[in-house]
Amino acid sequence: MRTVPAVEKVLQALGPVDLPRPAVVAVVRSALAALRAAGEAPAFDAVVAGVRSALDRVRRSRLQPVINGTGVLLHTNLGRAPLGAAAVRALVEIAPAYTNLEIDLDTGERGPRAAYLERHLALLCRAEAATVVNNCAAALVLILRHFTAGPRRDVVISRGELVQIGGGFRIPDILETSGARLREVGTTNRTTLDDYAAALTPDTALILRVHRSNFFMGGFVESPDLAALAALARRHRLPLVEDLGSGAVTDTRAWGATEPEPRPADRLRQGLDLVCFSGDKLLGGPQAGIIAGRTRHVSALKRDPFLRALRCDKLVFAALQATVDAHLTGEAVAGNPGALPLLDQLHVPLAALRSRAGQLVAQLDGLPLQAAVGVGQSRVGGGTLPQVTLESVTLDLRPDGQPPGALAARLRSGAPPVVGYLGGGRLRLDLRTVFPAQDELLLAAIRAACASPSPRSTP
Ligand SMILES: *Cc1c(COP(=O)(O)O)cnc(C)c1O
Repeated sequence: MRTVPAVEKVLQALGPVDLPRPAVVAVVRSALAALRAAGEAPAFDAVVAGVRSALDRVRRSRLQPVINGTGVLLHTNLGRAPLGAAAVRALVEIAPAYTNLEIDLDTGERGPRAAYLERHLALLCRAEAATVVNNCAAALVLILRHFTAGPRRDVVISRGELVQIGGGFRIPDILETSGARLREVGTTNRTTLDDYAAALTPDTALILRVHRSNFFMGGFVESPDLAALAALARRHRLPLVEDLGSGAVTDTRAWGATEPEPRPADRLRQGLDLVCFSGDKLLGGPQAGIIAGRTRHVSALKRDPFLRALRCDKLVFAALQATVDAHLTGEAVAGNPGALPLLDQLHVPLAALRSRAGQLVAQLDGLPLQAAVGVGQSRVGGGTLPQVTLESVTLDLRPDGQPPGALAARLRSGAPPVVGYLGGGRLRLDLRTVFPAQDELLLAAIRAACASPSPRSTP
């Protein structure tokens, strides 16, 4: 048996690697340990090649920009909403500087965190007050913990709203984690005001509604009018809270939603005491959980010691503040390119997508693949507007002599990585979610993928 080479010798053979030295050493050590454990050592060059591909995998896993050809606008696995221009400027400005994060510049004393942002969020939601935590899940946990911390622990919720949103977010689990006691009412498809009324006891702490973000129900369904439920809650002096999920601030009927996403302002006007929603869904900002509603409740939540564990950092505040202001000033509207990429993608004319697709196809001439313009369907994603599909245009690639999945793997392992989807024996790239400024990069990535001899992402 050949002896396993020394770490130092492999490091020398590798030459310069674009990773921190301790990371490279760790990869080499673990590769050599695996050889030793297996009791076999291949030729030295093969050992080095194996280490190189392990290092490639590590390098690819570094957080980096990805070209999104999935057609899913708010792709949770791809980081949801890309930030608008003002948010990016704010990050660049705030990140390297000291800030007035928690100082009152009038008095020079310690001041409240993110007071400006909270005030403007309240304006945007037409709420008395607002605050911000890490994400919508954190907002809900904070609310539930806070209102069920006393002797009353029951949270009343319709069986039709005991939902799962994305990976690892199940309402019953969130309730349990929060120490709340679940009091289910009604049935999956029908819950009436009487169901709620009958469930209220001296142990009831709060009435919770959860927006059915990522699915829809039709047919024999019923849920009580929000105003009537609010009146019931008021009569029993109970807070009425809704987890809105995406929290659209614009009217989503413009995107073909027959069931528009609830807007925080509308819901609060209809009588909710508090709403929570995500910052990185339809608002188009960074990951955050926004809580808006009655001052009395928001102030109490801000005093809750648990808030300290959920608070955001200055970079999130900076990006969110710029995003919220863009909504308030009216900059974040369709037809103002770059202000909110999500809006650009939602409103791009099909003709513009077709023209880009045609140009891309023309420039892929001579490669070992057939490229064509296809018809696709984009989705909003991120657990929002499940009924909305947007007609779209795709760049369809059918590689010669290999399955489209192999091309997909090569494109994912390229720089920048490109993510598409397979369908009809082709690799499809939806151009609605590819920024026009990325077209050249996309072409280069496809050319590189055709040139590389085999996928570098072999497991
Ligand atoms: C998306 C969603 C959440 C989770 O939001 P995060 O910001 O990812 O924590 C919670 N509730 C609903 C209804 C949602 O749609």
